[in-house]
Amino acid sequence: MATTTDCTTLTTARLADADWSRFCREAEALAAEIAAQHPHLSPREAGDIAAEHVEARYAAELERQAETVAAPAPKRARDPRSAEERAADKARVQLAEGARVVFDGAAALVSSASRAGVVHRVEAGSCTCEAGQAGRACWHVAAVALTPRPAPAGAAINVRRIAARIAELRAARAHMLAA
Ligand SMILES: [Zn+2]
Repeated sequence: MATTTDCTTLTTARLADADWSRFCREAEALAAEIAAQHPHLSPREAGDIAAEHVEARYAAELERQAETVAAPAPKRARDPRSAEERAADKARVQLAEGARVVFDGAAALVSSASRAGVVHRVEAGSCTCEAGQAGRACWHVAAVALTPRPAPAGAAINVRRIAARIAELRAARAHMLAA
């Protein structure tokens, strides 16, 4: 069980991290499976194959996360187009005059340029303002659509951390095999 021991030792010595632990658990479980099914492989060979498979799984996970981040905001279909265009024009004027859009999870808070202290909440294409509640197009929704949404902080950090852990694993394995 050289693979298990090495991975645990490396985890304790170099990293104590949820992603790293998960990576190790998955790689170890897969290495044990491969070793059982292919007795002619050495533990090191089984470990290498397992690490490659788990890396590929992580790469697929990173791609899915990137797709989620890039998914377009839902659109309102029920508003007449001319009303949406008017709302978009007003949103451009408001944004140019200093109106602010602050993203808050799935929602966005829109503050008016001219009416200090007035903030409306836009979520899933629906706004808390009077027009929005009446089902009409409003400039708040348009302003949110015109403002680039930053990648969700949690997902972005997770992508970076997993990518960093994969690099760490590669370095650690190279070091281990060279020893
Ligand atoms: Zn509104």
